[in-house]
Amino acid sequence: MSIISRRRLAPLIILVLTVFSSPAQRRSAPDRPRLIVLLVIDQFREEYLLRFEPFFGDRGFRRLLTYGAVFVNCQYEHAPTVTAPGHATIATGATPAAHGIINNEWYERETGQVVTSVSDPARRVIGAPSGRASSPHRLIGTTLGDELRLSTNFRSKVIALSYKDRSAILLGGKLANLALWFDESSGAFITSDYYANALPEWVARFNATRPADRYFGARWEKSFPEAVYALAAADDRPEETPLPGGGRTFPHHLTGGLAQPGPAFYTAFTFTPFANEVLIELAKRAIESEQLGRDEFPDLLAISLSTNDLVGHFFGPYSHEVADLTLRTDQAVAALLTYLDARLGSNYILALTADHGVAPIPEEAARLKLGGRRISPAAVRQAIEEAVSARFGEGPWIEPRALPLLSSGFLYLNREAIAQKHLDIADVERVAGEAALKVPGLARYYARTQLLAGGVHEDPISRRVARSFHPGRSPDLILIPEPFAFISGGRTGTTHGSPYSYDAHVPLILFGRGITPGIYRSTCTPADLAPTLAAALQIEYPANATGRILWEALQLAASPRVAPHSMTSR
Ligand SMILES: [Zn+2]
Repeated sequence: MSIISRRRLAPLIILVLTVFSSPAQRRSAPDRPRLIVLLVIDQFREEYLLRFEPFFGDRGFRRLLTYGAVFVNCQYEHAPTVTAPGHATIATGATPAAHGIINNEWYERETGQVVTSVSDPARRVIGAPSGRASSPHRLIGTTLGDELRLSTNFRSKVIALSYKDRSAILLGGKLANLALWFDESSGAFITSDYYANALPEWVARFNATRPADRYFGARWEKSFPEAVYALAAADDRPEETPLPGGGRTFPHHLTGGLAQPGPAFYTAFTFTPFANEVLIELAKRAIESEQLGRDEFPDLLAISLSTNDLVGHFFGPYSHEVADLTLRTDQAVAALLTYLDARLGSNYILALTADHGVAPIPEEAARLKLGGRRISPAAVRQAIEEAVSARFGEGPWIEPRALPLLSSGFLYLNREAIAQKHLDIADVERVAGEAALKVPGLARYYARTQLLAGGVHEDPISRRVARSFHPGRSPDLILIPEPFAFISGGRTGTTHGSPYSYDAHVPLILFGRGITPGIYRSTCTPADLAPTLAAALQIEYPANATGRILWEALQLAASPRVAPHSMTSR
């Protein structure tokens, strides 16, 4: 090519480059949302959105159901279905087998201790005089928030709020700017020195208003039409657990049994809808003070409403309390959406899900002939110790330090005793497992040896158990009760943790910028949320995410990609 013809081509090349890189062209592509609000309701069954739908206002759940992408068949593909694994799965898009958060607590063989999913003896509490500190050091891989921080060289902010440390910490991830949770001894929101050496000023100011104290002496009363409570069982049932310092029927008088605010009151406070309202207020402060969603680097605000779980445990899914709280949660969601609209216009995505559901109170399920039963952990222990001792000699055969975990179906064997007697652990597992199955209400057992070899059937229950198996953390035996039964030393209340629908089926709704509204009936899991939001943000997926990207709900699917630097240049 001659010099002259090159010169003739030059204007054409410039023209082509101009057309394909003009700011106007790039602006026509859908922008990334400026803020992701990840709203997790702790213990919230998908059916609550159906059962109470006629009573929702227009600005809360109904708005999400009408204008959001509503995935009606979203189920966890893991068990136990409890808080820490649920939140870790939401944040990472991975199964517990991969993210390592297999339960709220497990037995750490290396230290001979029961540890929580976030306990960290190397850390200290910030914002309270004392208390156990926590960090995400047991989480394996990255979260949505971590990838967002990495993608903008830490210009994006990630903040996570909850009443429970594990919920805030696991939702945020390892690179979060801040995770805050509630200290029931002081009534303040606190953090760990993993994040900061002092509370940010806006948090200290919020704490200084004594947000919980304002509700001392308040009454939680039924405030919706009687038709709402007609969808629940009787208000007073013998197996309900009374509120701390209170009773088991409306109205609930909130003092914690104290004359002035103190630890028992702060505990009682977390069992009332007022606690959700305070957390939404804290979320607004975070958005304002940290200027979330204000620049071209998208931010993530994760909120986990713990109160729904606490109330559900004490009163069950068919209680007046859960009915009332669900409708008050609708109002809290409405307040949040209204605030986000005013602050961010249409520049945000709100994602709603839950970490698990809940079983009915077992005695109620038994009265209805559904098979409900409280299985005594002492009975399970005795059956196993007797059978294994009869076969292999004196025990104890269950690791004594891991006994508290029996109520979640986690059974760690006494490995020292097995080694001393030169036994094959698979033989001990089998004898112990068969003995457990003789306890009424227990349906199945899974042995570590069998799970290590991948030798479980491909039915849905087994699949859920296998996807929660971590070789270094999981127990030697995992016990699965019949539907509506669970292992519990208590006499009242209910719980969750099973692989069954009532614990596994949760809402998943995407709402806001770039989301295609509609009812989506295809099967999905909460693990799909993190990679889907990563796709909406046009960032890398969390490291070990295996969830499916819900492309069908994303308007960004066929759009040109927008790089962070091109966002900056505007
Ligand atoms: Zn719970």
